Amino acid sequence: DNHRSAAAVAEAEQWTAHNYHPLPVVIADAEGAWVTDVDGKRYLDCLAAYSALNFGHRHPLLIAAARGQLDHVTLTSRAFLHDQFGPFCRELAELCGSEMVLPMNTGAEAVETAIKVARAWGYRVKGVPDGQATIVVAADNFHGRTTTIVSFSTDPDARAGFGPYTPGFRIVPYGDLDAMAEAIDDTTVAVLIEPVQGEAGVIVPPEGYLAGVRSLCTSRNALFLADEIQSGLGRTGDTFAVQHEGVVPDLYVLGKALGGGVVPVSAVVGRRDVLGVLRPGEHGSTFGGNPLACAVGRAVIALLRTGEYQERARRLGAQLHERLGTLIGHGVVAVRGRGLWAGVDIDPALMTGREASERLMARGLLVKDTHGSTIRLAPPLVVTADEVHWAVDQISEVVAG
Ligand code: PLP
Repeated sequence: DNHRSAAAVAEAEQWTAHNYHPLPVVIADAEGAWVTDVDGKRYLDCLAAYSALNFGHRHPLLIAAARGQLDHVTLTSRAFLHDQFGPFCRELAELCGSEMVLPMNTGAEAVETAIKVARAWGYRVKGVPDGQATIVVAADNFHGRTTTIVSFSTDPDARAGFGPYTPGFRIVPYGDLDAMAEAIDDTTVAVLIEPVQGEAGVIVPPEGYLAGVRSLCTSRNALFLADEIQSGLGRTGDTFAVQHEGVVPDLYVLGKALGGGVVPVSAVVGRRDVLGVLRPGEHGSTFGGNPLACAVGRAVIALLRTGEYQERARRLGAQLHERLGTLIGHGVVAVRGRGLWAGVDIDPALMTGREASERLMARGLLVKDTHGSTIRLAPPLVVTADEVHWAVDQISEVVAG
């Protein structure tokens, strides 16, 4: 019986802007890797809110941090300081091996912040003539939904019809260092890339790409902005996906899991000679770095310091990829990814990614399609080996017909 779900889907359909096309699941409860819908049916959550739930739903230490903070202070604005603010910024800077933090709320805001910081650095430090700054980005990127960010999207759904567009961006193919080298000139203040492209279908760049971007940025005096909003904080088996090639960017752009799936928390993290260019009044956010966000963010950082989640992502990710690899040629065309993160291209002759997601949902497995016949798997890092195997069993049976 799914009558509660059907009614809730109909209500949402009527009263909400149709900027999403959600699967018709209406979640009422959640714990760890599992969610329960309004009719009592359980599902394994293998999307984990696009990696915002790396630590699972309602991790006890994150809920305790939020509850504890609710009894003290929840909002001050940045006009004042509060006792969670300095510790959060210090602990996050230390996690990144860096020096300064600028907290915001959503991923797109953190990307916007990184763009503004890079431009300000370009004019004030590099000496680019005012108004001339360029930023090199990759095709098929996903960095968020603001008017500036969609200006350098190559996805027509994200971009078309929302102009006029913000100038100052150059788009090169992802993974192509020669094209990047050619695009960088004296006006280039930064390169902005995802170390693994999530929305594009979990695209892992060729080996050496991240190190190559680093050395290009260093030799051409441009900042390396790593958008680790989806790839960072444990997902790939390292704290940051750039660590796979031992690379340190000039700015880390973080979000999603930084809020533990409890509150929106994002941040830009970098050295003093970069983030230090901003002056009072030039940038900000009423809610950025609020006490609740900082308290939860500190608990997230404490979880990451144990290394347990990175280790789980490595170990269970290896099992996930080994199992998914056996499906190639059996209804699956290709599998990509790193850690507990996979893009699975289903044979387009069989079904679309949307159809696959709907059939998996009927079996109690929640995943999300990206483009065409690709589905994306990103289970919470608290998922067990048995659950990973069960999830692949479901995919195997769906693509086998
Ligand atoms: N950057 C990346 C790599 C993302 O995956 C996302 C969200 O999917 C964003 C930025 C935007 O984050 P938000 O939706 O919180 O604005």
